[in-house]
Amino acid sequence: MEEVRDWAAERLDEIVDDLAVLVDTETPSTDSVLLADGRAVLTGWVLESWTDAAASTLPGPVLQVDTPGSLPGTVVLLGHIDTVFDAGTVARRPFSVTDGIARGPGVFDMKAGLVQGVSAVAALDALGIPRPTVRLIVNEDEEVGTVASRDAMVAAATGCTAVLVLEPGAEAGTVKTARKGVGLWQVAATGVAAHAGLDPEAGSSAVHALAALTCHLVGLADPAAGTTVNVGVLAGGTRANVVAEHARLEIDVRARTASEAERVGSALAAWAPPDPRVRLHVTGGWNRPPWQASATWLVDRARAVTASLGVPFDAREVGGGSDGNILAAAGLPVLDGLGASGGGAHAEHEYVVLDDLPVRIALLAGLVAGSPPAR
Ligand SMILES: [Zn+2]
Repeated sequence: MEEVRDWAAERLDEIVDDLAVLVDTETPSTDSVLLADGRAVLTGWVLESWTDAAASTLPGPVLQVDTPGSLPGTVVLLGHIDTVFDAGTVARRPFSVTDGIARGPGVFDMKAGLVQGVSAVAALDALGIPRPTVRLIVNEDEEVGTVASRDAMVAAATGCTAVLVLEPGAEAGTVKTARKGVGLWQVAATGVAAHAGLDPEAGSSAVHALAALTCHLVGLADPAAGTTVNVGVLAGGTRANVVAEHARLEIDVRARTASEAERVGSALAAWAPPDPRVRLHVTGGWNRPPWQASATWLVDRARAVTASLGVPFDAREVGGGSDGNILAAAGLPVLDGLGASGGGAHAEHEYVVLDDLPVRIALLAGLVAGSPPAR
């Protein structure tokens, strides 16, 4: 895939221009008007860049763009166009390049990944390298849990040969081969208010109940098994001398295995407050299931391609979930973290290393062009 790397290196200025357009087209997860504009810009650009491409918008909404290939099978390039940055961020902090470092809202997570994926396929076709059919699948609610787009995304990927996830990478030769599952719960407690001095027995504290639940939850963590529990919000009560009527918790749980996910989820469901007068209202659950391992053939191919490009290979397991978790749980071979090299996802200092783009594009091209083992 050296020829793809060289192709991309020669066109780096144009590729960076494409990235600038996508970054400066704002797409906050919560703004459906801006998201529709962003989808239109992305669709137009992909249709221009790919051979015989056809686009459709599925419920969710999910953008699907197919370009037919000469090899058997269909490889999915999976991404999201939404970002965690509110409308107006681009006006304050537009796309910029300084000393080979690109910045701007969503540049790393994951507009550079989208640019790499589309460029990789364009490079294969420009160089006449045979490939299977490629299906780009892009949703608009990944940063808010992939609720509306989940079913259409899974349906669009079902039956495909492999899923290459364009989420941010790390260094030039790094891929992600496992991600923890992510469980998100909210607990609202309602107790009985009373005067803390005159009439304490008449009251039942929602704050005390959720403090007890917090201790219980913290005890469910098992760092050796990769299970973490974070009570990120614990709020409630009104005054020191009032038995609290209301309190609430927000919980983030990460688990590496389905059995650990099940253990924590059922322990939370089974818990009851020491004082039965406190009522709990529990919402949430496992937002993304644990993804334990990439298909071996995908990891082997990534290793071979990075070796041919002369960059060190590194397969990582990470705590953050992605839509790769969802498609792996649907039985598809997934390799993740194939987006840009850089850092600072979701933060103001988010950045992309432009010199690594050609290598990352070549890695994607090698994964797209490589066929799966015969079954
Ligand atoms: Zn992302």
